[in-house]
Amino acid sequence: MTDTAPQPLAAIASFHAHVYFADDAARAQALVLREQISARFAVALGRVHERPIGPHPLPMYQVAFDVPTFRHLVPWLMLNRRGLTVLVHPNTRDERGDHLVHALWMGAVLPLDASGLAADHEAEAPLPPNTTPTIAP
Ligand code: ZN
Repeated sequence: MTDTAPQPLAAIASFHAHVYFADDAARAQALVLREQISARFAVALGRVHERPIGPHPLPMYQVAFDVPTFRHLVPWLMLNRRGLTVLVHPNTRDERGDHLVHALWMGAVLPLDASGLAADHEAEAPLPPNTTPTIAP
């Protein structure tokens, strides 16, 4: 670890949660969780990837959300992740650090393929939500 100044919170443009599933039983749980998230949070749900993609070693889907949503969604996932492995990472200019250094994991820590992750790129602004929550979390 080099001695560098702390990064400001403003470096975080948005967050992702990635919900992984390794088999049919976990996939079924992941789809239930997906519906529960959709009903409770204004987030951008990505499509369900049935095969590993990018740095992710297992099938998964992405949940993209803005900074204010973090304090509601992440504790809710702590209580309700249905035994699934979830990666939560910030989106800053350092995509590589976001995934490998600054991420938090619920459940197992999975090995990510870092080969395609850039150390300096445009931070992802919050994606427009595509859910219509009707239930208070
Ligand atoms: Zn991500």
